[in-house]
Amino acid sequence: MDCIFCKILKGDIPCNKVFEDDSFIAILDAFPGNEGHVLIIPKSHYENIFDIDEQTLKNAYGLAQKVAFALKSSLGAEDINILQNNGELAGQTVNHFHIHVLPRYKDDKVIIKSEPVEIEKNKIEQIRQNIEKNINI
Ligand code: 5GP
Ligand code: ZN
Repeated sequence: MDCIFCKILKGDIPCNKVFEDDSFIAILDAFPGNEGHVLIIPKSHYENIFDIDEQTLKNAYGLAQKVAFALKSSLGAEDINILQNNGELAGQTVNHFHIHVLPRYKDDKVIIKSEPVEIEKNKIEQIRQNIEKNINI
């Protein structure tokens, strides 16, 4: 399969690894948004959040928390963004599930922003009901 992260996992493409266990690697992003931008990558190939199983997802976020603490203590990151893109419209460029752990420093150049859209009051209720109906626990 033509997947950059699978190639990294196989050792065909080099990476800067900060963590590895049976299920995950955590590596430095090759085009980092900030110093210490880490990607959490499961060893199995899941496309995105619609594809990954719940237990692996939970473990991935558990690892993201550990990395977040490490970025605070090792690099002095003041705050952290956890980001995770699913699908092209959402900005996913590598179709192998991954979590971005992005450390934030005072006066850094990172911009994560969306303009608010206006939605009519009765439309909001329609939206709320639709989502509520479709949540399958
Ligand atoms: P996405 O846009 O899919 O959420 O994030 C993909 C991330 O993978 C990007 O931040 C990009 O910089 C990173 N990336 C792409 N190719 C490579 C690579 O070969 N090695 C590493 N370490 N990161 C990569
Ligand atoms: Zn893959």
